[in-house]
Amino acid sequence: MTAAAEVVRISSFEHIDRIYEAQRQNRAAVNATTAAQRVARLKKFERAMFAHRDDIRAAMWDDYRKPAAEVDLSEIYPAVSEAKHAIRHLRSWMRPKRARMRMSLIGSRSSIVHEPKGVVLIISPWNFPFNLTLGPLVSAVAAGNCVMVKPSELTPASSACMKRIVAEVFDENEVAIIEGDAPVAEALLKKKFDHIFFTGSPAVGRIVMKAAAEHLTSVTLELGGKSPVIVDASANLDEAAKKIAWGKFFNCGQICIAPDYILVDETVRVPFLEKLQTSIASLGDASRGIIVNERHASRLERLFRDAVQRGAQVVTGGTFRGREIAPAVLTNVAPDSAVMQEEIFGPLLPVLPYRTLDEAFDFIASKEKPLVLYIFSRSRRIVKQILARTTAGGTAINHALVQFYQLNLPFGGVGNSGMGKGHGYFGFQAFSNARGVFDQRTRFSAIEMLYPPYVGKLKEKLIDFTLKWL
Ligand code: NAD
Repeated sequence: MTAAAEVVRISSFEHIDRIYEAQRQNRAAVNATTAAQRVARLKKFERAMFAHRDDIRAAMWDDYRKPAAEVDLSEIYPAVSEAKHAIRHLRSWMRPKRARMRMSLIGSRSSIVHEPKGVVLIISPWNFPFNLTLGPLVSAVAAGNCVMVKPSELTPASSACMKRIVAEVFDENEVAIIEGDAPVAEALLKKKFDHIFFTGSPAVGRIVMKAAAEHLTSVTLELGGKSPVIVDASANLDEAAKKIAWGKFFNCGQICIAPDYILVDETVRVPFLEKLQTSIASLGDASRGIIVNERHASRLERLFRDAVQRGAQVVTGGTFRGREIAPAVLTNVAPDSAVMQEEIFGPLLPVLPYRTLDEAFDFIASKEKPLVLYIFSRSRRIVKQILARTTAGGTAINHALVQFYQLNLPFGGVGNSGMGKGHGYFGFQAFSNARGVFDQRTRFSAIEMLYPPYVGKLKEKLIDFTLKWL
C-alpha cells in the first residue's frame, strides 16, 4: 500500500474510533435501561422495518435479485419476529432467576441476574443480510448493550438500507452500522469489545476468535459447513423430496443451514431421485435468485466441473449462465471430489447412496461436525438411533430450514460449525453476563462452624458430615 493510500485508510477508520468512544461513554446509561425502555426501542425498530419494507425489497433486488416474497419471508419476517418475541418475553428474561438453595448454605438465597455485557460487536455475512444482521442486533439490544455492527461488503445496497433504518431508530452512541470490507472488520476487531457475535465462514471465524483472544473477549461464532441429510427407507419420499428441494434451492442454495448433500438408503434411491426432479421442476424458474457475485458463481461452476470430471452424473440442472445457475442434482459423486470436501453454499446437490446406517454414520463422522443434520424417516426407532450416533448444532426431522423460525430452540453450531447459540432467549443470554448473586440472609451461616482453627473432635466430625451428607 502506498503512503497516500495508507493515510486514506487510516482516516477512513476515524469514524470507528469516534463511534466506539461515544458508545463506551454511553455504555453505563444504555446498560441501565429498564425492560420498558428496551421494549420501546424494539417496537420502534419493528415499525421501521414495516415502514421500509419496499426499500428492503429493492435493496435485496439490487444486491442479488432476491425475489420479493423471499425477502419478506426470510429477511423481514425473521428479524421482526425476533423483535416481537423479545418484546413479549423481555420482562421475564430480565427478571432475576432464583437458584435452589443447598443445605450446606442454609440461610442464603441465590439468584441469576442477566446483566448487559457492555459494548458489543456484530459481524454478519452477505446471505440473508437483514435477517443475520438485525436478528442478533435485536438480541443485543434486548440484553441492554451498545452495539457496533459490520454487515457484509458483498451486499452494499442492503448494508446502506440497514444503516438508514438503524439511524432512524437508534442514536449512534447506542447502535451504529459500520459499512466496509475485511480491513474495516479488522480495524474493529482491534478494539476491546465486551462480546463479539460473528456469523460467517469457519476461516474468518478463526481470525475473529484470535483477535478476540487478545482482549479475552467472549465470542459467539455462527459458522457453516456441510449439513447432511439422511433419507431413510421408511421416509415419505414425496414429502422428503418436496421439502429438500425447497430447502436446498431457496436463496439459490446460499444458506448456512441448506442441505449440503444427501445420504439416501440405496433401496429408495431411484424413486427418491425421480421425486426430487419433479419437486425441483415445480419450484419454477421465475422465483429463483442469482449467485451473489461472479467469484462465487465460478467457484460453484468449478465444483460442478470437478465432480463431473471425476465421474459424477448430472441428474438435472448444471447450466451456468454467469450468476444464474440451474438447480443441479449429482449422483455417483466421488467422495474425494471438491464438492464433497468444502461447503457448497449454492444450488448443487450431491446424492449419495448408503447400504447400512453405520455406513452413513461413518461418512458423516469423517467430516467436521455439521451445523444441521436433517433426518427424513417415519421410523421413530431410526430417528432415535441417528440422534444417538451423530452430533450437530441442530437437527430437523421431516422438514428443512423451518427450524430457524423456532425461536424457542437454541440456534448455532458445534465444533467447526460454531460455538455459542442465538435466537430468542438464547440470543439474549449470548449478549448477557449471567451473574450469580449469592445473598446471605441470616447473620449466622453454618459454614462458619468449619472455620479454622481445625482442632478438636467436633470439628473433625462436622467436616466428615459435610463431606458425606451435604
Ligand atoms: P465470510 O466469513 O467471508 O464473511 C463474513 C463477514 O466477515 C463479512 O462481514 C466480512 O466482511 C467479514 N470478514 C471478511 N474477512 C474478514 C477478516 N479478515 N477479518 C474480519 N472480518 C472479516 O462469510 P460470507 O461469505 O459472508 O458468508 C458465508 C459463510 O457464512 C458460509 O460459510 C456460511 O455457512 C456461513 N454462515 C453461517 C450462518 C450461521 O448462522 N451459522 C449463517 C449464514 C452464513
